[in-house]
Amino acid sequence: MQGKKDYQEKLFIRFQLSDYIPADNFYRRLKSILDLNFVYDTTSKYYGTEGQKSIDPVVFFRLMLVGYLENLNSDRRIIATSRMRMDILYFIGYDLDEELPWHSTLSRTRQLYGEEEFTAVFKQVLKKCIDAGLVAGKRQAIDSAFVKANAAMSSLVEREIMNDAATYGKQLDDHNDEAPAGDIPDENTKPKPRKNAKVDKKANSKRYSPSDPDARLSVKPGKTTRLNYSAHVSVDTQNHVITHIQAFHADKGDAPCLPEILTHVAGNLKDNGMEIEDVLADTGYSGEAALLFLAGNRIKGFIPNRPGCQSRESRQGFSYDGEQDRYVCPEGKYLTFHNFKKAENDNTHKIYRTSVKDCRDCPLKSTCTNLQGFKVFKDSVAKDLYIEMHERMQTRQGSKARKVRQSTVEPVLGTLINFTGMKQVNTKGLELANKCMIMAAIAYNLKKLVNGIPAKIRRRKRKLPGNHSDALINTLSACLLKIANILTAFSIACKSKWPNNLLLCNLIIQPF
Ligand code: SF4
Repeated sequence: MQGKKDYQEKLFIRFQLSDYIPADNFYRRLKSILDLNFVYDTTSKYYGTEGQKSIDPVVFFRLMLVGYLENLNSDRRIIATSRMRMDILYFIGYDLDEELPWHSTLSRTRQLYGEEEFTAVFKQVLKKCIDAGLVAGKRQAIDSAFVKANAAMSSLVEREIMNDAATYGKQLDDHNDEAPAGDIPDENTKPKPRKNAKVDKKANSKRYSPSDPDARLSVKPGKTTRLNYSAHVSVDTQNHVITHIQAFHADKGDAPCLPEILTHVAGNLKDNGMEIEDVLADTGYSGEAALLFLAGNRIKGFIPNRPGCQSRESRQGFSYDGEQDRYVCPEGKYLTFHNFKKAENDNTHKIYRTSVKDCRDCPLKSTCTNLQGFKVFKDSVAKDLYIEMHERMQTRQGSKARKVRQSTVEPVLGTLINFTGMKQVNTKGLELANKCMIMAAIAYNLKKLVNGIPAKIRRRKRKLPGNHSDALINTLSACLLKIANILTAFSIACKSKWPNNLLLCNLIIQPF
């Protein structure tokens, strides 16, 4: 018999939210392991003792997490989605008929709390990952990616740079002569935003976005120029847990950021009794500051040098005397250390040069010296470290480190950008961008913590010793078979030379 469902809405029903959330639901499991009660103490300094009650700080952090776990890039959408989902309501501690906080409360609270409150939550979650055995700590892979800022290219305006006080004074005088006080500036004289303008390397010193002055013009090869922030992430290579994340201005190079990132990573790990031994990074992180920091902290780096980083031997005809720290030219003259020189990118160079007198009568002078009549070489103060790094990257360990870096930190950045709400920050300013990135990293680590190590990796790890022994047994049996066959072949050959030629060939060829 055909059934027909009648529906009549009940005014009163008996309903318990927890009854409807399955035991294996992600948010139910997350709620059982995530204890954020400590944020009541850390955030109490932002509130007075009187007035209207604020949003519960734990609810705020949970709603923020929902945004990144659900890849929602708007506070309105976080509230709208939470209202429609029973498991999220259960996670944030709200009943079906309770009114959720207003979306703008999230934005205001995000601005109110300092970066240290977000960092404290990150450290708490990292500690849980370490306690669960997901972090080894020894080897960290570092990489960066651009994250779109919350500012449009059409908002760009020209920076007005006063080169010196005299120019500024003159402009003030001219202004006083020409425009009486109280005059409204002509709209036509205001710099207008340039649409689809091409940018050069110094674009950020010429233009900026007043809606987000911290956003910087930057471009990846093959991509369009955008206003971005740069997200730097450090990942533990054991199970891809994020050990640190930080926002930087997008026009800052990767190499100068490395010391700051590693200081934070080392601090986060040291709090849990761990120490970094190896750091894996790409060529972008190769630089004087990075290499000096690694050497000073006894951390072994695996960072390929930039192209054009010459070895001392590549200077044809010139040899280097390490004991005396000088170069010897083809004519036997010395290029001795002369002075240190600061380069534009804050690197320091060691200058080696001959004297004018040495080169005066040399037959090679026209092709060898500069206009002042002497030969000069400049080396980075970290030249020895560059050479050491180059040699390390040529080893088997170096090429393995390259592959490990690619297979750990790059997928993590891809996941953060495409599935954890980091495609674009929905805030303005570097500090708020940093808070957003920290929350995205917390959400990522919590997914790892709740779901554990993916079954694929677990299986691979379990099989690894077995695979080695299987391979060893196979090789040994192949060798024994080969020896047995050769012995049989010789015995056949000794007994009868010609009739068994075919058998002889088969036995010798078979093992190969
Ligand atoms: S020009 Fe000076 S540096 Fe060059 S080969 Fe002659 S002596 Fe040596």
